[in-house]
Amino acid sequence: MFGMESFDADAIVIGAGAVGLGCARALALRGREVLVLESAGAIATETSSRNSEVIHAGLYYPTGSLKAELCVAGCRKLYVYCAAHGVETHRCGKLVVAVDDGEAAATPALLQNAQANGVENIRLVDGAEARRLEPALSPDVRVAIHSETSGLFDSHAYFLALQGEIEDRGGSIVFDTPVVRGAVRKDGLEIETGGASPSRIRARTVVNSAGHQALPVARSIEGGPKYSGVRMHGVKGSYFIASGRAAFARLIYPMHNSATQGLHLAIDLGGRTRLGPDAEWLPEGAKPPFDYEVDPARAEHFYREVRRYWPGLKDGALSPDYSGVRPKIVGKGQPSADFMIDGPEVHGVEGLVNLIGIESPGLTSSLAIGEMVAGVI
Ligand SMILES: Cc1cc2nc3c(=O)[nH]c(=O)nc-3n(C[C@H](O)[C@H](O)[C@H](O)COP(=O)(O)OP(=O)(O)OC[C@H]3O[C@@H](n4cnc5c(N)ncnc54)[C@H](O)[C@@H]3O)c2cc1C
Repeated sequence: MFGMESFDADAIVIGAGAVGLGCARALALRGREVLVLESAGAIATETSSRNSEVIHAGLYYPTGSLKAELCVAGCRKLYVYCAAHGVETHRCGKLVVAVDDGEAAATPALLQNAQANGVENIRLVDGAEARRLEPALSPDVRVAIHSETSGLFDSHAYFLALQGEIEDRGGSIVFDTPVVRGAVRKDGLEIETGGASPSRIRARTVVNSAGHQALPVARSIEGGPKYSGVRMHGVKGSYFIASGRAAFARLIYPMHNSATQGLHLAIDLGGRTRLGPDAEWLPEGAKPPFDYEVDPARAEHFYREVRRYWPGLKDGALSPDYSGVRPKIVGKGQPSADFMIDGPEVHGVEGLVNLIGIESPGLTSSLAIGEMVAGVI
């Protein structure tokens, strides 16, 4: 295009969410000069600021999967990182509660899976012990898994710490700069940006961590992999706040619907009792900007599900809070897919890594994902 500025960079990261920042930081720590291109006007405005802020211990993911490996490693790294950078964490622990025979029968397998994943400080407790820990739990709770490592953290302080580290090491984050297309060239990759001052940038390394847009961004790279068999699906998760004093100290997750981790309860860092997220499949082809409004009518389902383990939830206590959308690469009814972290060994394009379908536990895993990506290229 006439008048378009052209320049060279070392490493480009597309997207300044948790994953992009984690990758940029890991590259910067390896001495790479990093340029983060972000279409929004600030860091972490999409999925990274619309989640539960839970540091997951890694109970649920199939042993040997990237999710399991990166969550367990990421959890350890995140606690250490937060302590070193003054980011608030609350290692409150979590109880996964079973309220009927079917759920109780499924708990030993979940415990075994967690242990096989390398999760530490985890054990089975009976109903009485669970209620001793959390007296507001239903008398129906028969058995629970107690994970002491799970917790909450101030993700925004974490993102700012990452941004600071990237910039301290000579990297920069450029806002209002959407990547519109790219091309594989003989000596690296070329990325074209839109926005107020469109540019063409040549780089040795490109990490595509554009969240919900990672698939279209990957496809827009001429000479790169096209992922013809992959489709993105959005699953909206809404949260509600319960008024009144906090009745729990720990995160409470139901065994019910454990594949999607059910409607869980957390006392957030502000002391509010937060419930959710639920799961609402968005219409085929839905893409950002999403409608993040929370429909108050969804409260009915929350009352029903949450009262299975917290009968003390009062009528009229719930009010809508915020929502987020999970970037999924499998459709409704299919088992969860693993993270797609595709480097040159997968698609053959030197210097390119595509990160697609980085849903939960992407936040917990972000430091570990960054280190893996920096190692791959
Ligand atoms: C409801 C919900 C609850 C969750 N709870 C947890 C939890 O408790 N713990 C946990 O570990 N994980 C959780 N997750 C998952 C976690 O939030 C995500 O895995 C993580 O935030 C993904 O980060 P990201 O950087 O890949 O994506 P995003 O945060 O979406 O960042 C992508 C960035 O790319 C930018 N971008 C897009 N297109 C372009 C383009 N063309 N050019 C330039 N920039 C572009 C976007 O503006 C955005 O800033 C949850 C997710 C949801 C939806």
